[in-house]
Amino acid sequence: MNHDDLPKWSARAAAWAQDYHASLRDRPVRPAVIPGSIREALPETAPDQPEPMERIFDDFEAIVPGAMTHWQHPRFFAYFPSNASPASMLAEQLANAISAQCMLWQTSPAATEIEERMIQWLRAAMGLPAGVTGTIHDSATTATLSAVLTMRERALGWAGLAEGLSGQPRLRIYASDQTHSSIDKAVRLAGIGQDNLVKVKTRDDLSMDPDALATAIAADRAAGYVPAGVVFCIGGTSVGAIDRIEDCLPVVEAEDLYTHVDAAWAGSAMICPEFQPLWAGAERCDSIVFNPHKWLGVQFDCSVQFLRDPAPQIRTLGLRPDYLETLESSDINDFNEWTVPLGRRFRALKLWFVLRAYGLEGLRARLRNHVAWVGELADRLRDIPELEIVTEPRLALFSFAHRAGDAATEALIQKVNADGRVYLTQTRHKGRFVIRMTAGSFDCTRDDVMMVNTVLREMLA
Ligand SMILES: *Cc1c(COP(=O)(O)O)cnc(C)c1O
Repeated sequence: MNHDDLPKWSARAAAWAQDYHASLRDRPVRPAVIPGSIREALPETAPDQPEPMERIFDDFEAIVPGAMTHWQHPRFFAYFPSNASPASMLAEQLANAISAQCMLWQTSPAATEIEERMIQWLRAAMGLPAGVTGTIHDSATTATLSAVLTMRERALGWAGLAEGLSGQPRLRIYASDQTHSSIDKAVRLAGIGQDNLVKVKTRDDLSMDPDALATAIAADRAAGYVPAGVVFCIGGTSVGAIDRIEDCLPVVEAEDLYTHVDAAWAGSAMICPEFQPLWAGAERCDSIVFNPHKWLGVQFDCSVQFLRDPAPQIRTLGLRPDYLETLESSDINDFNEWTVPLGRRFRALKLWFVLRAYGLEGLRARLRNHVAWVGELADRLRDIPELEIVTEPRLALFSFAHRAGDAATEALIQKVNADGRVYLTQTRHKGRFVIRMTAGSFDCTRDDVMMVNTVLREMLA
């Protein structure tokens, strides 16, 4: 295949994509696949000779779509969504065609400056103050790792980068017991150690208890540890826990700790002014991450990190060897200095396309619908005598269980998912096995959400 063949195959891929999306409601959300069967369908070694694209494309159609979980299915209600809008898909095609490596301004002037502008657009839309800047990462995990590394170095007076961690004081990071495992991963990878991530207990509303935070910090100081930072949770993955950041900030600010907010899923909702009170205080935090690739219609991967002051993170992550020096310039950002990998994709393009193609109002309407429909569904499930709402809707997420106990709940979710019309996942809440329900696919309708009610009633009949 050469460049002359690309238009023909691109057209075929686009036609295929349209059929695929149009057919999603007729497919089970999750395929019935036997582990190993896809591997078996592929030869054991790579071909020595070129193969015609016709055959490669045929094999793609025969092997791949039927063996994928369809994340863009309108009735994908599992995990969190990873929703992709057509405008985002188009932008990715163009970014692919250019295939730039956007590590420096001079390797990608447009990518760098569109990224700057997109951060500014989102900052304003989400109610964050002027002066907040930021960058785009591949994932919230990487953004959180960047923030935790910055916490570490700030607390060590930037000694860890050169000297390593042995002989340094023992650092402590604080987060609620509702935070995502990416925080645990970050403290492990940062060399701080899992044992130094203090899981602060939560109040009845699942928000971090500020008194417990203050007590933990005081005890740690008394024991000779060095408190370094706090990670707040806005929309926990399990049941959507939301820290009341404002309640904790007096403690955090008195202790001069670095703050990071993990709003990976819920952050997208903050383009709606009525949801912004949920993260009141985030504007005073040092770092915030949210994933447009979860709920804003910008496909994976695209994770935005806002920074109140980028300098500490750049000082932590930035390296400028001679061969990366940009001559003759000021007033530019070399975004690799803000992130872990050197190489960077042109992720800002799809943000630009999506924000323009739907407008903030179009995106807000979608988010509001998801929240409203999920709330309506929860109300319908309250009328099913066998079921109990365990955690109330937080934005577009709630959890429920069978009143007969964990075994009945587990049997129910297995039946629902085997049916295939909807796809739900489970978690444990306060020791109890519960089913999570969250909506956010880009093409999801009210009927799609209400299908959960239909399927549950059938399965319980
Ligand atoms: C999904 C999620 C993450 C991880 O996001 P990645 O981009 O996949 O790393 C972290 N925190 C929360 C709250 C999440 O929902």
